[in-house]
Amino acid sequence: MPLYEYLCLNCKRRSTILALSPANQAPAACSHCSSTQVERILSRFASPKSEEARLDASLDLNNLAGLNETNL
Ligand SMILES: [Zn+2]
Repeated sequence: MPLYEYLCLNCKRRSTILALSPANQAPAACSHCSSTQVERILSRFASPKSEEARLDASLDLNNLAGLNETNL
C-alpha cells in the first residue's frame, strides 16, 4: 500500500495519506485542517535505496576484478 506524505501550505503540518488505488486521484487534503493546499513530499526512501544498491553493485564488480587479478 503506497503511503504519500503531503505538506499543508495552510497549517504547515504533514499529513500521511494512504493511496487506496492509483486510479483514485481524489485531491489530497490536509488531515489537520482539511485544506487542499497541500504539496506532495517525495519519499526519502525510494531514491537513496536505489543509490545504495548501485554503489553495492559497483563495489561487487571491483571486488570481482580484484579477485581475478590475484588469481592470475
Ligand atoms: Zn493543514
